[in-house]
Amino acid sequence: MKAVVFERYGQDAEVREVPDPAPSAHGVVVRVEATGLCRSDWHGWMGHDPDIALPHVPGHELAGVVEAVGADVGRWKTGDRVTVPFVCACGSCPSCAAGDQQVCERQTQPGFTHWGSFAEYVALEHADVNLVAVPDELSYATAAGLGCRFATAFRAVVAQGRVAAGEWVAVHGCGGVGLSAVMIAAACGARVVAVDVAPRALELARAFGAAACVDASALAGTPGGTAGAVRELTGGGAHLSIDALGSPLTCAASVESLRSRGRHVQVGLLPTAAGDPVVPMARVIGLELEILGSHGMAAHAYGPMMEMVRAGSLRPDRLVTSTIPLAAAPAALAAMGSTPGSGVTVIHPWA
Ligand SMILES: [Zn+2]
Ligand SMILES: [Zn+2]
Repeated sequence: MKAVVFERYGQDAEVREVPDPAPSAHGVVVRVEATGLCRSDWHGWMGHDPDIALPHVPGHELAGVVEAVGADVGRWKTGDRVTVPFVCACGSCPSCAAGDQQVCERQTQPGFTHWGSFAEYVALEHADVNLVAVPDELSYATAAGLGCRFATAFRAVVAQGRVAAGEWVAVHGCGGVGLSAVMIAAACGARVVAVDVAPRALELARAFGAAACVDASALAGTPGGTAGAVRELTGGGAHLSIDALGSPLTCAASVESLRSRGRHVQVGLLPTAAGDPVVPMARVIGLELEILGSHGMAAHAYGPMMEMVRAGSLRPDRLVTSTIPLAAAPAALAAMGSTPGSGVTVIHPWA
C-alpha cells in the first residue's frame, strides 16, 4: 500500500510503498477513505511524542471501510463504514471496566503507538471496543474529524464541562478543537465568547455560533488581557472556560476568565518543552474553581453526539475547509508548524 512515512524527526516525510497491515485476532484493518490532518501529527513528526518509533506513519483521525476482520471480532464485518476515537482502548483494564475507555491504561493510538492512517490501510486494535458505525448520510471526510477534535470538544463541553443553556462559555484558541467547542456549546444553548489571535479564526467562530469574540492579539500586554475582556463581556466571568490551544498563556487566561465556582477544562495539549504551566491557584481556591482535563471520548459515548449530528444541530461538515490527496500530505504536515490553521484539512488516500 501507499503511506506517508518518515524515518527521521522533522524531515523527509514521503509517500512510498510499504507492506499492507494484517488484523490482529481482536482487531480489524480499515481501508482509509479520509483522514484528518491535526497539529498532533505535526508534534509526532517533530519528535515531541515519546510513543513514536521510527520509521513511522502518522494519522489518527480516520474514517473508512472495514477491509479485514480478526478471528475474535464479533460486532463488525467487512464492508462496514466506521470511525474510531483517537484513544483506542483495551476493553479490560480497570478504567475500561468503569466505562472510562478514554483514559484506558493500555490504550493504543493509531499514528502514535503504531502506524496510522496517512495510508491506504490502517490496523486498529480491539475493534469490538473501539469502532463506531458511520451512518450512510455522513461523509467520510466529515466522519474523519469526529474521533479527535470533535469528540474531544464534545466531551470537554458536555461531559467534563457540564455546560447548561444560558451559561457563558469562553473558548480560548479557535483551531479545530476550539471551533468544534464553540459549535457544540452554542448548540447546547450557551452564550460563547471566542478568543483567538487570528481574525479568520474569530470570523469562523462567529459563523459557528459565538455570541462575542475577543481578539487576543490586540490585548497582549494590556492590564487584564484576554481574561479581563472575557470577564467584562460576561458580566463577571464565564461559567465554563476551555483552553483549546494548550499553552501556559491560554491555560492561565482560561482560569482567570472564570466567575466564582466556574469550571476550567484543559483540552489543548501542553508541549513539554514549555514546562508545566503556572496555574493561578489562589484564584482557584478563593473562587472555588474546578480544574478539569478532557482526553478524547470513548466509543460507547458517541450516541448523543451522533444524534445531534443526525438532527443537524451540530454540523462537523462545516469545519472541513480543504481536501488534499495523499501525495500532498508530507508538505501539508510540515506546514502545520507555521500555520496552525483555523480550518480542517482532510486527506483522501485513494485520490
Ligand atoms: Zn487530532
Ligand atoms: Zn483499558
